[in-house]
Amino acid sequence: MDYFKIDKNLELLDIKATEKCSKAFSRIEKNSEYNQQKVLSAFIDSGVSEMHLGVSTGYGYDDVGRDTLDKVAAKAFGAEDALIRHSFASGTHTLSVALFGILRPGDTVIVLTGRPYDTITGVFGVDEKLDGSLKDFGVNYEQVELLSDGTPDIEEIKLRLSSKHYKMAYIQRSRGYNTRKSLLISQIEELCSAVKSVSPDTVIMVDNCYGEFVETREPTQVGADLMAGSLIKNPGGGIAPGGGYIAGKKEYIEMCSHRMTCAGVGREVGATLGHNRELYMGFFAAPHTTAEALKTAVYASALFSLLGYTVSPKTDEARADIIEIINLKSKDALISFCQGLQSGSPVDASAVPTPAPMPGYSDEVIMAAGAFTGGASIELSADAPLREPFCVYMQGGLNFYSGKVGILLAADRLIKDGIIDLRG
Ligand SMILES: *Cc1c(COP(=O)(O)O)cnc(C)c1O
Repeated sequence: MDYFKIDKNLELLDIKATEKCSKAFSRIEKNSEYNQQKVLSAFIDSGVSEMHLGVSTGYGYDDVGRDTLDKVAAKAFGAEDALIRHSFASGTHTLSVALFGILRPGDTVIVLTGRPYDTITGVFGVDEKLDGSLKDFGVNYEQVELLSDGTPDIEEIKLRLSSKHYKMAYIQRSRGYNTRKSLLISQIEELCSAVKSVSPDTVIMVDNCYGEFVETREPTQVGADLMAGSLIKNPGGGIAPGGGYIAGKKEYIEMCSHRMTCAGVGREVGATLGHNRELYMGFFAAPHTTAEALKTAVYASALFSLLGYTVSPKTDEARADIIEIINLKSKDALISFCQGLQSGSPVDASAVPTPAPMPGYSDEVIMAAGAFTGGASIELSADAPLREPFCVYMQGGLNFYSGKVGILLAADRLIKDGIIDLRG
């Protein structure tokens, strides 16, 4: 390496790690080619043209660019309809709009995949009746725990769903900050058919964050009625400056649209303020960008397993999202890793991540991110709560060769700080 100085022994290990990735890489490329064709044909079939990339202001009536992008997203996700908007403030906001769009006072929602992602627990009101939460609006919450191996408890799910009526069954695809495995599309398919077999009119909704374009099918193609995700993750392709999407059955998207703006108005308003071009370009780039992030995760898994660490998923394991977990075994190692990774970022490389308390977390958290878009986790990033078992969660990488430098510099920092010894 001419531009980055790393330990000589680490350079040798890089060659081994790269060789170890070849099978996984060819699988990723195959999926990426398939998904790129899927997205390209959605663009062509929807008649995307230059006029769709323009700007609307004010109410945004008749923004044909916005309405056509909805069609593109629906086609690419194999869904009847979709809403894709820069104006969703975050993934959590998008999921919240979908939940409030469907659920009504007195309804019960059942989460099939254990405790949900941290910020979503607030939306449901899992722990307390937070102001503005679903619980505050009279929506009841239930949760089915995962089995001890981290997979959904299909028997228990069927039992619960046949015992009474649930308006919605909710599935979280990605592991979030949990050590359970993320759900493969085949597992989501199995869950959907289990729900439909006992309760056909329960709405199945999937939190699809981090999962888009990882496999060749999306949850809406295997039985989910509704799914939602964030545009600063996979489907924004690293280009969308923010936003989210909801995709699914027409009648449910209609209901969500009245929560997104207001009753009686729905999707007819919403100026795109010049963001159409970035959202189109980002969605077009998404299959490729997701593949680059996946390669970065696979490489991290290969290198750190050669360095003797436990990683999940393993290098050749089937992947359901772009997250890689490395068990670094100590607080000092987490700090060194994040500081090393940061030093290989295209933006803010000289920043030094340090552990700090975070609202909503009981332990201090350390985060590395040197991204073009604030908080974008489709860009190379890592974070870790400073607690047992000292796992770092890393994801993203707009392009593999740059992501790989970040991973190598993280490993090099562990060597320089005396945590890893490659001599002899
Ligand atoms: C990212 C993510 C969300 C949404 O988080 P935001 O930070 O609000 O975008 C929800 N669920 C899962 C599993 C996620 O990974």
